[in-house]
Amino acid sequence: MCGIVGYVGFDPATPILLKGLEKLEYRGYDSAGVAVYDEKDGLRIEKAKGKLRVLCEKLHDGKDVNGTIGIGHTRWATHGAPSDINSHPQVSDHGKFAVVHNGIIENYLTLKEFLLGKGITFVSETDTEVIAQLLEYYYEGNIFSALVKVLQKLEGSYALGVICTDAPNELYAVRKDSPLIVGLGKGENFIASDVPAILSKTRDIYRLKDQEIVKLTRNQVEVLNMDGARIEKEKVHIDWDVNAAEKGGYEHFMFKEIMEQPKALRDTISPRLRDGRIVLDDITLTREQVEKIRRICVVACGSAYHVGMVAKYTLEKLTRIPVEAEVASELRYRDPIIDKSTLVIVVSQSGETADTLAALREAKKRGARVLSIVNVVGSSIANESDDVIYTWAGPEIAVATTKAYSTQLAVVYMIAIYLADLLGKLSPEEYENYIQCLQKLPEQVEDALKDKESIQYFASKYFNAKDIFFIGRNLDYALSMEGSLKLKEISYIHSEAYAAGELKHGTISLIENGTLVVALATIDSLFEKIMSNVKEVKARGAYVLGVTTREHTAIQSEADYAFYVPKTCEMMQPSLAVIPLQLFAYYVAAMKGCDIDKPRNLAKSVTVE
Ligand code: GLU
Repeated sequence: MCGIVGYVGFDPATPILLKGLEKLEYRGYDSAGVAVYDEKDGLRIEKAKGKLRVLCEKLHDGKDVNGTIGIGHTRWATHGAPSDINSHPQVSDHGKFAVVHNGIIENYLTLKEFLLGKGITFVSETDTEVIAQLLEYYYEGNIFSALVKVLQKLEGSYALGVICTDAPNELYAVRKDSPLIVGLGKGENFIASDVPAILSKTRDIYRLKDQEIVKLTRNQVEVLNMDGARIEKEKVHIDWDVNAAEKGGYEHFMFKEIMEQPKALRDTISPRLRDGRIVLDDITLTREQVEKIRRICVVACGSAYHVGMVAKYTLEKLTRIPVEAEVASELRYRDPIIDKSTLVIVVSQSGETADTLAALREAKKRGARVLSIVNVVGSSIANESDDVIYTWAGPEIAVATTKAYSTQLAVVYMIAIYLADLLGKLSPEEYENYIQCLQKLPEQVEDALKDKESIQYFASKYFNAKDIFFIGRNLDYALSMEGSLKLKEISYIHSEAYAAGELKHGTISLIENGTLVVALATIDSLFEKIMSNVKEVKARGAYVLGVTTREHTAIQSEADYAFYVPKTCEMMQPSLAVIPLQLFAYYVAAMKGCDIDKPRNLAKSVTVE
């Protein structure tokens, strides 16, 4: 998420910060800002909601701003809507510290309450502001010591750039679970979220590890651990071109985002697990209100609708409330039976999907309570819902969704467990088991991603296919739909997803010698059933790729090729089984030379009907 740039040197800082931020625009953001210090003019803070261009215009590209030290930021809002005030840098009460932050401070509410109790005033809704305020609160003349004290209090993820009016030649930086690098120049030094921001200035960098604190002056970069001991860092020389640098060395954003899924899942799940319980601070639904829900209706478009299909199976199973999943463009025009006893769950990455927004409004008009699962803070869907649960997937650039889909699934699991628990439908053992599965999920996704070469090999055999069928039952059927869509979107190969038992009622006539069928078989109780469907298609000449969990090696006797994924509870299995499907679509499209990140005719956020 977001971008950080920091500069200390002899040149005017503002143009350098603005140019650096421009190079980080690809990361996605909703507002931008800089803080620059000058002995004469003091600390100058300029921020603007919207495109970086707005800030550049406000500052005349930085030409008339004095100061040779500063920090800049493009914000991707997580706490508080995008606005001038919530933009970074955030400044402490008495204007001593300016801070830019990338990440999420999970315990910011507790810290904020503590500081409010000390009479400190807050101006923004951000989690970041607590960092600036805490720095000033703990500061007793030594910035490093104050920073260490603050870091000891913070839970969550952060990359920070800090300047202090008492030390006009010092820039401080530190990271934990969010990216940050140091750029090493001559008579000037830099910090940045990513290499492209500084590539026109230097190609020598330090890669920081978690909780290494950096003090930068014009002529020196000191890296210290939390105890103040110096760390010898290895200088890394960057020889990539600028384009490759923006993708962190990956060829496509889609692949980068596939690989980012463990982190995205961690960011989405871990702030909501406390002491072995799911805590959804974001939901205000009471137990009484949940008890009155007679129907749940999940509304979305595209991949988010496939999340809705998973939600249907999952929520129904756990809560025993009837659930329907429906595409938004259908629901809005069909006079749906929705009233105040209906809970409508809308799912949208951008929070701006026009059809979904219209369906939300329709549902609200009919008196339903709306809970949304959205990735972008302050988006229209988030603003108009009664409750919002954000997926902390970070900006998704590739048109074909991967990490947003995965985090939406994780939120669905959490909602299902949460509601079922409120209704007293889960035994303590079941509850604990689900929590453990949730906790392990990011690591298991990491594990599933390790098999990418075998998927690449398989894709190399099948990238010329004309038709591909994805079959599965129950949750595997919901997942088939996503696997098929992913492939269609980026590789332009025709494919269909079918409920495996339905194939024989028509579509099996399309199977001929060599047709590729991807059979998903991750549900233990349905394994034999799906194996029968595999036999049916094989008897008609199909070539079958089976996807199952690691203990079902029996699949080898039926399928021609098998991918194994780690095992979790049945409900969460789609999160692991989707990995080979995403990778398969990606490698096939790459081998066909398709424009993976921007497939023809598609847009990232569909804001038209
Ligand atoms: N959590 C911070 C905010 O909402 C930082 C978001 C970011 O990484 O841009 O302001």
